[in-house]
Amino acid sequence: MSQSERTLIRGAGVLGGARRDVLIEGETIAEIGVGLAAEGATVVEAAGRVLLPGLVDLHTHLREPGREDSETVRTGTRAAAAGGFTAVHAMANTFPVADTAGVVEQVWRLGRESGYCDVQPVGAVTVGLAGSQLAELGAMHDSAAGVVVFSDDGKCVDDAVIMRRALEYVKAFDGVIAQHAQEPRLTEGAQMNEGVVSAELGLAGWPAVAEESIIARDVLLAAHVDSRVHICHLSTAGSVELVRWAKSKGWRVTAEVTPHHLLLTDELVRSYDPVYKVNPPLRTERDVLALREALADGTIDCVATDHAPHPHEDKDCEWGAAAMGMIGLETALSVVQHTMVDTGLLTWAQVADRMSTRPAAIGRLAGHGRPIAPGEPANLTLLDPAHRAEVDPSGFVSRSRNTPYRGRELPGRVTHTWLRGRATLRDGELV
Ligand SMILES: [Zn+2]
Repeated sequence: MSQSERTLIRGAGVLGGARRDVLIEGETIAEIGVGLAAEGATVVEAAGRVLLPGLVDLHTHLREPGREDSETVRTGTRAAAAGGFTAVHAMANTFPVADTAGVVEQVWRLGRESGYCDVQPVGAVTVGLAGSQLAELGAMHDSAAGVVVFSDDGKCVDDAVIMRRALEYVKAFDGVIAQHAQEPRLTEGAQMNEGVVSAELGLAGWPAVAEESIIARDVLLAAHVDSRVHICHLSTAGSVELVRWAKSKGWRVTAEVTPHHLLLTDELVRSYDPVYKVNPPLRTERDVLALREALADGTIDCVATDHAPHPHEDKDCEWGAAAMGMIGLETALSVVQHTMVDTGLLTWAQVADRMSTRPAAIGRLAGHGRPIAPGEPANLTLLDPAHRAEVDPSGFVSRSRNTPYRGRELPGRVTHTWLRGRATLRDGELV
């Protein structure tokens, strides 16, 4: 885009606050005020809408390379733009696994070519996600992709010595290990949360302690080596207590929660609809309320989608055979509005913190999660919080349709997304 291109966002509630005009020139926010001249600018009438910094996802499965039947970097980043995201972290469990500089550079390059949002590859912690041998963490960090976040997500780094070595290794360049906390032996054959519902349905349960025991170990390891650990998709009340305790010690621990764990419970599994099959599993109402409270008080740093696309043949089958995971990029902000804003738990300014500022900080992502202020990159999201509609997956941009919200009424609609001043979404349409 040429430096002379101008967009005037007129009368938007900046971070949900007072109405302001925001002028974008080229790639940058040029001016914020009241009654700014629109001369030569494309005008976006934004009365009643909320302007947020572009959302940042720490946990997205883009599936490329290897599973392009469920998502590609292009379709996934288009879904991200439609959901208000300007940057996503692409998880490493692709085929081949993103465990070398070559693969992370390939994903990074595909992201740049897509142009819909920035793609920051996550590198695998261990070779092939096999858990036994450290991957080339330094080479991935030194590559063009500049990997900072490492994760075997989908699998837990369950060997304590490997986890310790990984934490020690990334400390040298301020990297972070994002742990999928799931003790493998305690979850062998597990199909859903272990509790009243699993007992009634006769399905093998996945106990909370399988998540909590790994978190307890890993916050202690992070403290021991004074390195950074990030806990993926917290799902239990006990996990919240452990993270709260670790933070009270001043240890370098951060955590995320998914939108679906803020809303859905294991009661839904009674339907045997595999769309509700996810890892970690949907838990109980008590867990959901603890997660909301922890996101509100900052114990949980951020919301991450764990967008996990699957082709219909992997989900439209019996419960036991179905793949785990849900898509989430296009509904994340609506679910957060529904569970956190409309309930009075978070202000829009706090949503900006939990969905942009903090995830960008954890990933050390330059140019994202910045304040909405003159001179800052124009990475922005505009939404209409008064909008209400039933979720209709037929209109989704993602290549997959495995959303748990089909037919559910959710508030809010992202109308515009700007990536460095360029509209990637305009009036709800991808550009
Ligand atoms: Zn995971």
